[in-house]
Amino acid sequence: MISSQEQSLILLKKYFGFDAFLPNQEAIINSILDRKDLLGIMPTGGGKSVCFQLPALQLSGTAIVISPLIALMKDQVDALSANGIPAAFYNSSQATETQNETLKKLQAQELKLLYVAPESLSFLMPFLNEENVSLFAVDEAHCISAWGHDFRPAYTQLGQLKDLFPNIPIAAFTATADSATQDDILKQLHIEDAERHIASFDRKNLFLEVRPGTKRFPQIVQFLESRTDQSGIIYCLSRKGTEKLAEKLNSNGFTAQAYHAGIDTETRNRVQEDFVNDRTPIIVATIAFGMGIDKSNVRWVIHYNMPKNIESYYQEIGRSGRDRLPAHTLLFYSFADVITLRKFIDESQTKEVQLAKLERMQQFAEALSCRRIALLNYFGEHVSESCGNCDNCKTPPQFFDGTILAQKVCSAVYRLKEQEALTMLVDVLRGAQNANVFDKDYQHIKTYGAVKDVSWQDMQQYIIQMVNQGILEIRFHENGRLLLTPLAKQILFEDRKVQLATLQKAEKLAKKTKRTEQTKAGLFDKLKTLRTEIAVEEKVPAYIVFSDAALRDMEAKLPETEAEFMEVSGVGEAKKDKYATRFLKVINAWVASKQSTHELSFSLFEKGLTVPEIAEQRGLKKDTIYGHFQKMHQEGESVDLHQFISEEEISKVKKAKIELGDEAEGLKPYFQYFDEQMPYWKIRMGLYLLGGQSVKN
Ligand code: ADP
Ligand code: ZN
Repeated sequence: MISSQEQSLILLKKYFGFDAFLPNQEAIINSILDRKDLLGIMPTGGGKSVCFQLPALQLSGTAIVISPLIALMKDQVDALSANGIPAAFYNSSQATETQNETLKKLQAQELKLLYVAPESLSFLMPFLNEENVSLFAVDEAHCISAWGHDFRPAYTQLGQLKDLFPNIPIAAFTATADSATQDDILKQLHIEDAERHIASFDRKNLFLEVRPGTKRFPQIVQFLESRTDQSGIIYCLSRKGTEKLAEKLNSNGFTAQAYHAGIDTETRNRVQEDFVNDRTPIIVATIAFGMGIDKSNVRWVIHYNMPKNIESYYQEIGRSGRDRLPAHTLLFYSFADVITLRKFIDESQTKEVQLAKLERMQQFAEALSCRRIALLNYFGEHVSESCGNCDNCKTPPQFFDGTILAQKVCSAVYRLKEQEALTMLVDVLRGAQNANVFDKDYQHIKTYGAVKDVSWQDMQQYIIQMVNQGILEIRFHENGRLLLTPLAKQILFEDRKVQLATLQKAEKLAKKTKRTEQTKAGLFDKLKTLRTEIAVEEKVPAYIVFSDAALRDMEAKLPETEAEFMEVSGVGEAKKDKYATRFLKVINAWVASKQSTHELSFSLFEKGLTVPEIAEQRGLKKDTIYGHFQKMHQEGESVDLHQFISEEEISKVKKAKIELGDEAEGLKPYFQYFDEQMPYWKIRMGLYLLGGQSVKN
């Protein structure tokens, strides 16, 4: 007998198409199978769904999945159905008839999973008992806690589940790392002793990049040019900002739509749907966008403006790369944004905390070493090894001796009597001839024009580096004026040395990424086209058919047979049955375009396909396939043609050849000679084997 663990692995492949578990999945699944209560803390993309969907298949009864987002239920159920798992959802948006149908199925034990909104749970209660429920999965479990950022009153009634069904395991899931919220979740659910499974928050596939927020638009255009067929989100601070940017992108030939809370619900839903279904690749949005979107192939996220804290930043970049494939995140960091954000915070009640969080965000943006280390440390995961997948790891900053530059800056701050903010300081240092400078007569101070050769943007960046190094201080509450710190005085008077980081040229970085992306074009695009075609036919989002990860694996493995197709990650039995033929056709056509056609036929034959199967799969005649084998033989491959034609048949052809003599032109006379009983390919092969040369039709 096989153990339930082995059983889990078999089912993982059969239904979900995966060969191995992701971190924590197996432990969580085993606990549920042991009927234990648990809290699973996993980052977005961590593979939470499998944690309750797999035990749902193994246990008898129906798993009840409580999920706050009605919009996502349908997708989840579609995804399950696509994998051949009977599932349904129940919520207030449905017609009574549909609801009743679902209840009937539940009572008939026809469902492995039933998704329900917390608000609708009470309607289901009378139909549930310890015999027909396998487990309760509580998705987005932080919604139960008033501590969480997303409290849902209807979630509080979930406390009764454990009281009413003491023997049914409850598995709660959240991506919220904060431990006060975790404690509260367990308390509210009456499962205080539940196991906690905490996965790492590291999303290794997200490339982290920060660039100075200067000339953002041309940088974005350049970024997008190498990603024309990828989906992505650009986050902006203001509603107006989203509309303006979307318009600008559209007039530059991109397809983008704006999204913010001020747009009417109907339009918003449409925008969201167009994005999910790959009709609109680019969304320009405020932070209102993203919650409730389960799109796995978002390939990039750009922050046009800096988020107000690291939690928001992480959540927003986390919407990319849920399929675990590489995704690119790019944050534009500008000083002006910091000032705007500080203004918002000034009006808030929890000012102290929020300012501290903003400062941590700033530090992250300004970091000159591995960003992932900074990020994970912020979430309490202490790592020290550089990640290799952020801008600072890929192109470590180069430092130069910036002592003289720093001296000039400090001296200017001193001569401006520590009364001026960054803009004026840069203007003075660069010798700007504008009214602001002249009004205050700054053109006469000694450091006016002291660093004319450094661009405005670069100068600003160097000054920010000096602020970070504690040489200068910004008084945000006093119009952002800059002050000298004791360190500055050492630089001015004690010859203290200063190292500054050389500024990366954004364009150079962009070019580098472009090349690597392009080499992968080709088959992937063709697979995507087919996926879209099927998605339209089946009226489901493209990722329900196959994730990008599955398509990438097809690209890598180039399966040629159904058995090989089954080895692709993300291909389970249901999808193999439904889609293998169509995808194999595309893959084989592509391989054929790279490989000569006869080689392909023969390689399929060597993989165990019969000639009719090869012909079917390649959309060619059987005759042609035999011709391919013969060609392989001609080219010196060791192909045993005698397996296709017997000695007796060869003698017959020999006889015909003698009788027909030299007049016989082509194969037709032979075909007639044999009363159309011997196929053309065999005649051709026979003649070839006799004469050692090929005969054309
Ligand atoms: P979450 O709900 O935690 O954000 P999902 O359940 O949507 O994550 O899973 C994230 C992605 O990982 C999905 O594309 C899913 O198909 C994939 N995935 C889940 N489990 C595995 C596994 N064992 N092996 C490979 N990919 C997996
Ligand atoms: Zn790094």
